[in-house]
Amino acid sequence: MSPKAIWFKNIEMELRNGKKKLLKLPHVEPELCIGCGICENKCPVHDRPAIRVSSVGETRSATNQMILKS
Ligand code: SF4
Repeated sequence: MSPKAIWFKNIEMELRNGKKKLLKLPHVEPELCIGCGICENKCPVHDRPAIRVSSVGETRSATNQMILKS
């Protein structure tokens, strides 16, 4: 479904040799995430995935929330 919870921010980075490289930095919108775990399961980073899906926000518990209200 769109919009997806994961999106990429394109940034241009300068390398040591002065050349520019376009990077796609992944971001997750917590409000859109349904906790399916596909991103963790299919993460291309070897060994441990670069993202972890937890039960935070799975219930309507006020104490199990990732985004804390100030
Ligand atoms: S857990 Fe599922 S919905 Fe949430 S960011 Fe990962 S792939 Fe997207």
